[in-house]
Amino acid sequence: MRLVVKVGTSTIAYPTGHLNIRRVEMLCKVLSDIANAGNNVILVSSGAIGVGAGKLGMMGRPPDMPTKQAAAAIGQSELMYEYDKIFSEYNHTVAQILLTAEDVEEPQRCANFRSTIFRLLELHAIPIINENDTVATAEIALGDNDTLGAIVASVIRADLLVLMSDIDGLYSADPNLHPDARFIAEVEEITPEIEALAGGTEYKFGTGGMRTKVHAAHIATEHGTDMVVMSGRHPDLLYDLLEGKPVGTRFFAKKENDTL
Ligand code: GLU
Repeated sequence: MRLVVKVGTSTIAYPTGHLNIRRVEMLCKVLSDIANAGNNVILVSSGAIGVGAGKLGMMGRPPDMPTKQAAAAIGQSELMYEYDKIFSEYNHTVAQILLTAEDVEEPQRCANFRSTIFRLLELHAIPIINENDTVATAEIALGDNDTLGAIVASVIRADLLVLMSDIDGLYSADPNLHPDARFIAEVEEITPEIEALAGGTEYKFGTGGMRTKVHAAHIATEHGTDMVVMSGRHPDLLYDLLEGKPVGTRFFAKKENDTL
């Protein structure tokens, strides 16, 4: 199976901006194990800006673009240092890929990205992807890694995209405000009603919310990839997911006939 797992800033860092070591270690251990079982694993990791800001002692996401970009430069190397260290413990080699929107929109660059990632997978490396926040101003202002994860999954024709965040899936209403909100385990089709459920939320150090996840689901399912939104609190639930047990909300890929 070719699997793209995206982790949000809230999954891998505390609200202080410092790394959630237990979470990151568990995530790397589970992904290493899944790769050992013969699956292709690609990690899309947020957290550059949040972890960079945390390292600089800032309380919250930097307000201005130059500081965001500087924080991303600091946080990205910190993230890769940690991923490299932990994945190495399980005998896995990591590879960093930083992308901008232009890289996936321009056909030649996109083809280069695709062939690099396939070569890395042949070499049994684990690609770790983020937006190139230090050069892509528009990425910081508009982009989000849910969308990036969906684009990556589509470009490499992944079997499954998993978005891990502080939300365990889609509800019929905001469960924080409506305790009787119903959990939606499966989405066969992204209807206007589903779109309407996806209000955006802001996290102190990250971006996203359900709105970007439904947007990502559009991209992934259109390109034949199932997408699951699940909580990042317990990365070992990935085992259950791959064994076909119900975890999070699954958006089903459009069948070829649907897209004709
Ligand atoms: N690329 C951003 C970062 O690494 C995260 C974007 C997002 O949270 O979606 O900080």
